Amino acid sequence: MARKTPSAPTREQSFSGLGVSPGIAIGPAYVREHGAIDIPEYTIPDSKIKAECKRLDAAVERAQRQMARLRAKAKTMPETAADELGFLVEAYEQMLKDSRLIRGAKQRISSDHMNAEAAIQAEITDITHAFAAMDDVYIAARIDDIRGVGRRLILNLTQTPVKPFASVPKGSIIIADELTPADTAQLNPERVVGAAADLGGGEGHTAIMARALGLPTVLGAQDMLRNVRHGEMIMIDGTVGRVVINPSKATLDAATKQQKAYRRQAERLHRMRDLPAITRDEVDIILQANVELPIEMTMVKTSGAAGVGLLRSEFMFMGRDDVPDEEEQYESFRDVVLAADGPVTIRTLDVGGEKPAEALFKGMDEKATSALGLRGIRLSLLQPDILETQFRAILRAANHGPVRILLPMVSTVSEVRQAKAILKKAVTKLKRRKATVPNPIPPIGCMIEVPGAALAADALAQVCDFFAIGSNDLTMYTLAIDRGNEYVADLFDPLHPAVLRLIQFSAEAARRMDIPVSICGEMAGDPRYTALLVGLGFRELSMTALNIPRVKQRIRDLDVIAANRRASQIMDQVDSGRIATLIDDMNEMG
Ligand code: PEP
Ligand code: MG
Repeated sequence: MARKTPSAPTREQSFSGLGVSPGIAIGPAYVREHGAIDIPEYTIPDSKIKAECKRLDAAVERAQRQMARLRAKAKTMPETAADELGFLVEAYEQMLKDSRLIRGAKQRISSDHMNAEAAIQAEITDITHAFAAMDDVYIAARIDDIRGVGRRLILNLTQTPVKPFASVPKGSIIIADELTPADTAQLNPERVVGAAADLGGGEGHTAIMARALGLPTVLGAQDMLRNVRHGEMIMIDGTVGRVVINPSKATLDAATKQQKAYRRQAERLHRMRDLPAITRDEVDIILQANVELPIEMTMVKTSGAAGVGLLRSEFMFMGRDDVPDEEEQYESFRDVVLAADGPVTIRTLDVGGEKPAEALFKGMDEKATSALGLRGIRLSLLQPDILETQFRAILRAANHGPVRILLPMVSTVSEVRQAKAILKKAVTKLKRRKATVPNPIPPIGCMIEVPGAALAADALAQVCDFFAIGSNDLTMYTLAIDRGNEYVADLFDPLHPAVLRLIQFSAEAARRMDIPVSICGEMAGDPRYTALLVGLGFRELSMTALNIPRVKQRIRDLDVIAANRRASQIMDQVDSGRIATLIDDMNEMG
């Protein structure tokens, strides 16, 4: 089935999805599917031909799994859309079986010693030339299908989005079927003004990255991509989750007005920058920023953040096929430490799950690094050299300002102990090199984001210098809801009593051991939850820099005694609907 040509290209069409990063964006569509892919070409030696064919098989299997996912998606769609998607999936699945495309590509690998990506591309070119000569409407439609399958296979083979948006015209809106966190990290806010994708949930790392970059973004806008053509005018409302293709004059006028209002509000909030984050009854709250890439530091400084509460170091490892060495990591960490107005908590690598890092996953089965597989500290302990290198880079950066070390996805005391042993080795190695090592060495703490870690917080508090509660993963793993999945996005609920109780339990464990505890999941940056978190005893909140002014405004309206009372009332509830109502009341009352 060919990509559908919109019957009336200038008619306004509206799609709803999840508004994951607020603001209005207007601009021409840069449709991701039409973007050129860089196809690597190299010669495969005799000894590697078998392995190369296997690599192709793995890419085919991955594409088959992607098709199964699309098929499941079709079931939730209106009938006509479901039929159309069903035809497309069927056509793709046929081609992924033992088709001419796959057989031909394997032949080229074996006889011409071509690498799999180049072999697929050459085969597609041949097939499309042959089809084009047939001058038949049905066949012409199949050419698009073949290209689509080929593109998917090549992407699966390279697994590396090679600077996917390098040539985006200024002012564009990215339209894609799916944006990975690594893709989003490549978006340059100076060129791209917004983004929308058919897939994706509100709490995944793509959403987090979009917020960090301040790009209005809508995810999970089902069935949108196939209705958009490259260059068409698009309006995105990332606050309510709406994508409009070919907006009418009335829509554009309203959007422009909203855009201005949004900017005015941002300017008003900006004035909060120099005001202290202090409650009405004079309790200081530390508001810090979550940072993914060093380029965010300008925004972090404008937000008035008191340091960085979470530096997600994994983004440095994404979208590349090598591993950054100690020097490169040190320089990035150092730049953040020097730019921050306060301490910086550097989290060691948290790849796995929806955060891929091609260079670290080489030769690994996809399921090895799934969300319940080798994610975060688990992978780092299996690759101790990489962790030790990271520790050395962090230790060196700590010579430039206060730093804390944070371990992700910890579930056992033993993981913390093993990491500490590796940290010790890093210290010894630096000393042997006569490098300066900070004295004392930075505190080391762990994320509380696995339900088991929350329940064992007493034990973890004995081996950690601090806790950072990751409400995103804690919600995902407690409720068994994939945070990046648009189908269950409405079930993702950090107000579920189970999640709140785990948060409270771990915070109390930290307090009993007298170690600092912060919260750095997305709920920390939502002013709706500020009173509850303060009422639960949190005095350190870390969030996307963009949200700091709003949260600060809320804090300045708060009374801690009243918040404590309300929080304990909330913690007695068993229903998240009732909890949400009590939170609304609390927010209305100030
Ligand atoms: C979390 O899980 O809440 C968290 C802060 O970590 P990340 O979002 O990077 O997984
Ligand atoms: Mg997490």
